[in-house]
Amino acid sequence: MTPLDRRTFLKAAGGGVGTLALAGETAIAATSAPQPARQPVGAGNSEIVVVGAGAFGGWTALYLREMGFTVTLVDQYGPGNSRATSGGESRQIRAGYGEREIYTRWVLQALERWKTREAEWGRKLLFETGQITLTSEWTKELTDTRHVFDKLGVKYELVKHDDLARRFPQISTERVDFGMYTPSTGVLKAREGCVAVAQAFEKKGGRFLTARTELGRRSGQTLQDVALSTGRSLAAQTFVFACGPWLPKVFPAVMTKKLLTPRRVVFFYGTPPGDERFTYPNFPTWSVDNAYGFPSIEGKGFKVVPTFEREIVDPDTQEHTLTADELRKGRAFAAKWFPALAGQPIVESKVCQREDSIDEHFIVTRHPELSNVWLVGGGSGHGYKHGIMLGEYVANRVVGKDLHPELTATFALKDGTF
Ligand SMILES: Cc1cc2nc3c(=O)[nH]c(=O)nc-3n(C[C@H](O)[C@H](O)[C@H](O)COP(=O)(O)OP(=O)(O)OC[C@H]3O[C@@H](n4cnc5c(N)ncnc54)[C@H](O)[C@@H]3O)c2cc1C
Repeated sequence: MTPLDRRTFLKAAGGGVGTLALAGETAIAATSAPQPARQPVGAGNSEIVVVGAGAFGGWTALYLREMGFTVTLVDQYGPGNSRATSGGESRQIRAGYGEREIYTRWVLQALERWKTREAEWGRKLLFETGQITLTSEWTKELTDTRHVFDKLGVKYELVKHDDLARRFPQISTERVDFGMYTPSTGVLKAREGCVAVAQAFEKKGGRFLTARTELGRRSGQTLQDVALSTGRSLAAQTFVFACGPWLPKVFPAVMTKKLLTPRRVVFFYGTPPGDERFTYPNFPTWSVDNAYGFPSIEGKGFKVVPTFEREIVDPDTQEHTLTADELRKGRAFAAKWFPALAGQPIVESKVCQREDSIDEHFIVTRHPELSNVWLVGGGSGHGYKHGIMLGEYVANRVVGKDLHPELTATFALKDGTF
């Protein structure tokens, strides 16, 4: 961002306000009639505060910093932490989205961006496994996906039953009729990706703080600061709350019943000794029977993500141990679809939660009462891969440069509740 753009943002964001002198940083605006400070404003202030260092907040903060803003990124447990929805080992980057073309478009760009960042940071985060959807039913979703793939030039292949059995003998193909294979997609490192983003942010001059954040003082329709669990407050002109499944806890009046947080479990099954059939690059990312999973990458184990009954959980307090019922169902699934893994142990597991919006579109919206507060979330089980795109979209939008006004309605908080 040019200095002129930044000045325009500062002026627009701080209309009718005075300035606060910052230690070693650019002076920023604060309200002209500040209320008595609850705590000394000793944490230092920023032009923009981003709360949440998951896939959405981390990338937003990095892009804002790269645009030249002073940015503080705050997370209560750390980037990609074990309670966060972006935590854990890996996430898939798939291209098939039915008629929701925007997400396929973003995935195509995201793939290139991940490669660029890998080169910039010198670390491997993307594994191009390919992805296969196995089914016996030709659905509208597949028709729409194929239409979008043809339109955007995404390479794919329809693999008939006999070819499936020949090419992927690791899976019980007798129950499926065909597969839709997309070679260019893959798997991303999840927690490690969040840490890499936060490190890049700090390296470029951003400030990272570990603290729980609550809304602080208000002045009319403006939030002046946030209160940190360290006892300090942090003032800014603009606040982005990318709190994932915590959004209803931070904004109960606005977000309760707009975001659900169902428990999810992930299994990593050991592969038989010396058997590389289930290991990257010998097996693709797959989906079948309302579940999906990945080949074993870097010896982690063969990943299976099933869908069980919906149990709504609290991201702060839910236990991350598997129940006996989950273990039994997971084993039954693995044995049904991957017979060679039937006797293999679970070598690792992960429990987390999703943060589902009403329509599974992301949420990027201004707070209805606080004009300098933005709510970002609703990854809905598919958000990780898009952080690298959504972060840039959000960064531009919150500084008044909405480059894609056509997406405002898509990412709005919808009427209705769960
Ligand atoms: C089992 C499972 C499988 C998934 N698979 C895929 C997949 O294959 N591909 C894909 O693209 N996506 C997938 N997703 C979805 C994806 O992981 C999420 O959509 C995405 O990671 C959400 O990121 P986020 O930044 O919105 O939330 P989070 O990662 O939860 O980040 C929110 C952050 O905010 C912090 N925070 C919250 N409140 C406060 C506060 N008051 N003060 C300070 N900090 C706060 C939290 O500590 C947390 O770090 C999956 C999700 C699950 C659960």
